[in-house]
Amino acid sequence: MRWSSQELQTEQVGALPGLARLNNLVRSVQTPEFAGITFHEILCKSALNHVPGQSTMPFGYTINPYRGCSHACTYCFARTTHQYLDLDAGKDFDSEIIVKVNVAEVLRKELAKPTWGRHPVALGTNTDPYQRAEGRYRLMPGIITALADSKTPISILTKGTLLRRDLDLLVEASEHVPVDLAMSIAIYDDELQQSVEPGTPTTKARLATVTAVRERGLDCGVFLMPILPFLTDTRAHLDEALRRAKAAGATSVLYSGLNLKPAVKDWYLLWLTREHPELVGRYRELYAGGQYAPKEYRTWLAARIKPLIRAHGLERGIVDPATGGLRSSALPASPERMPTSGSRTPAPLLAALRVPAAPSVPAAPSGRGPGPGRGPSLETGPGAITWARAADAPRSLIAAELPLDLTPTLF
Ligand code: SF4
Repeated sequence: MRWSSQELQTEQVGALPGLARLNNLVRSVQTPEFAGITFHEILCKSALNHVPGQSTMPFGYTINPYRGCSHACTYCFARTTHQYLDLDAGKDFDSEIIVKVNVAEVLRKELAKPTWGRHPVALGTNTDPYQRAEGRYRLMPGIITALADSKTPISILTKGTLLRRDLDLLVEASEHVPVDLAMSIAIYDDELQQSVEPGTPTTKARLATVTAVRERGLDCGVFLMPILPFLTDTRAHLDEALRRAKAAGATSVLYSGLNLKPAVKDWYLLWLTREHPELVGRYRELYAGGQYAPKEYRTWLAARIKPLIRAHGLERGIVDPATGGLRSSALPASPERMPTSGSRTPAPLLAALRVPAAPSVPAAPSGRGPGPGRGPSLETGPGAITWARAADAPRSLIAAELPLDLTPTLF
């Protein structure tokens, strides 16, 4: 078995009631190099998750080799999924990690079925596939290889610098199928980043990973999300973020404001009370109406950041005329575009995203024109599309309310 050679400090079987109910739990283990974390190794029955409502989604399938995430972002959308396992959405999400140890084998069988349509498959739409556990379990190489061998387009979104380990494989895969990569990098203040995302690699390390991807000839987007109200939404922070993303070689930037589902809101406000008590009242007011910041805030944020994204030349993307959103190169415009041979397809953007919901068309502040090297504008270039039209498009997956195992954590 894949873990037979690994040194284990302790071993427990059926450690937790919710997990025990899964009846495919192999064992629960703790190791010295992952202090405070328990891995619950399970044998999964399926690897591919079908996304409901595929007709309005930019991808039809996802794979989540892990549940829970030691990156421990306080704002993480996926926290609520742990409650289905009788685990809590706070500390348990960070430290009780479910590992689908046989995911690559199961995936290969699913992809071999004659009915498999080689739909684009996204990783990183729930928990992070390159979280620290991946260093121990090495599930991604088998997943990437299985997808590439079956001519299935791949997109990966991660905060994990461990992605660099698999760059050879990804470059090789991109010779056969579209491969879209992106790093999630939202906080450009080191102290704040370590506080609000305590288990993640530094911003600097993630930007270096963007550069490493670009140096291998693949495109790499940056997800500037979530933008935290009153903490990272200043013009200075956004401008600095975009400047550094551009300098690192990012090919595009997508942004989104903070959404707070109920259980996530509780966990985030605990952190806020501890670290920024002066902001608690403002947050309660801003999110009094639910998990989304009000339309006025989103409109204000859009008006602030969109001109900056344009000015830094980071809005380049593929516009899908059918949806008004940004389409990944992994997505076929029609069935004929599905990969059938070994030809390489450029991989310009990241998978899976539409333009973040923009409720109105904010006017660019005067005096902030596009900077040098600006690419074709989504608003004025060929096949022009306006932000107003984007607002009518299906809401970004980031903001979508999706069921278990599909809850996006695209930040
Ligand atoms: S936001 Fe992403 S990286 Fe952070 S804890 Fe959630 S899944 Fe992990």
